[in-house]
Amino acid sequence: MFETLLLNFLFMLFPVVLFLIFFENRSYSFNKKLLVALSAVALVLCIANPIILDNGFIFDLRYVPFIIVALFGGYKGAFPLYIVLNVYRFYVNGEGTLPSFLFSTSVLLLVPLCSSYFKKQSSKSRVITATTIAFATMAWYLLTLSFMIKSLNREFWILAANALSTHVIVTSVIMILLEKIIQNIKNRERLIQSERLSVVSELAASVSHEIKNPITVTSGFLQLLYKSPTISQEERRFVDLSLQELQRAEKIVSDFLSFAKPQRDNLIYSNMSEELDYTRNVIMPYASVHGVEVRYKFQNSLKCSYDRNQIQQCFINLFKNAVEAMKELGGGILTIEAFEDRSTIMIRIRDTGIGMSKEELSRLGKPYYSTKAEGTGLGMSMVYSTIQELGGTVEVHSEKGEGTTVLLFIPTKQ
Ligand code: ADP
Ligand code: MG
Repeated sequence: MFETLLLNFLFMLFPVVLFLIFFENRSYSFNKKLLVALSAVALVLCIANPIILDNGFIFDLRYVPFIIVALFGGYKGAFPLYIVLNVYRFYVNGEGTLPSFLFSTSVLLLVPLCSSYFKKQSSKSRVITATTIAFATMAWYLLTLSFMIKSLNREFWILAANALSTHVIVTSVIMILLEKIIQNIKNRERLIQSERLSVVSELAASVSHEIKNPITVTSGFLQLLYKSPTISQEERRFVDLSLQELQRAEKIVSDFLSFAKPQRDNLIYSNMSEELDYTRNVIMPYASVHGVEVRYKFQNSLKCSYDRNQIQQCFINLFKNAVEAMKELGGGILTIEAFEDRSTIMIRIRDTGIGMSKEELSRLGKPYYSTKAEGTGLGMSMVYSTIQELGGTVEVHSEKGEGTTVLLFIPTKQ
């Protein structure tokens, strides 16, 4: 019996390992489909090799992949598994096909309901939630079974205890492995991101200053030329265009400059209220031109030390992105909230704009990634680098067509 159990456990591990070794770096949507397919294979293998207890009872772990996929992937992920499970079950046939069909239907209907709640949880509570759900489904299964079986003897209860404990243990082990993998992927992404940023910020510091001066001087002279009474109308137009282009260059350089290390004399110790107030006022005219209503709520007494200019630049980048996401829709609501959670300052910037797909979301924050004609693709990189500098984290939730929420977590204690 122990050997079959191990074998079943191996089937569970099979999608996890195969995925880790070969496919981890593929695109998101490809991975999702692949994981569902691999889980389906594991599920079939489980049904084909059930665990036979000493007393002749049979059960298998098919619901472990089913539940985990249903939790991570919702109805979209669970439905193919449901089809595979039942087609194969009917093919195998034998006793208990109908109860199995009814039971898997109830799992299909109920478990994915928890999916969106589940995905919002922290790593640890996801393991606990999945384990609890595995326990609940198995208990529900055994309960229905106990109604159907006429004579409830001691053997049934031994089977129940066995099935329940194996299910719970295997689910929690697999979930711990999965969460660890997710954690590792996230850590690696963060590392790559900060590597990229360090290159950008090094370049930024050295080049931007050098370029800023010539630009200032040139645009000064061009402005003088523009006012000269002797130049013709057409020449004036050329000068005007040159000035506009210079302005654009200046903007890119100043975006770059904000990557440079925080300056000691800019460091202040405060609760960000002044900075949020100031930047909110800066963005206000831009927002109202595009029909965006700004809502603001400040509830934070925690303080930390930061570079005032950088944090202001950071807020402006985020507000500007939010307004830009809403302007094509003719307006919307920008909500800016600051509050505290134990020793962490949380700032939430929410818009009702065009939102981003998963693919776009995964590229957000890479230097030069922009979908705008005028964009530099440096705004979000700067946000990430500034918040990381403060030891904090940035979380972005977005849904195409729904809007975007950016959450900044800034710790006040190391
Ligand atoms: P830029 O604004 O110059 O394009 P950013 O780094 O600020 O560069 O943003 C990169 C890209 O991320 C944008 O081009 C846009 O496609 C996307 N983006 C950023 N913020 C939002 C948002 N609030 N809503 C929708 N898309 C966004
Ligand atoms: Mg931007």
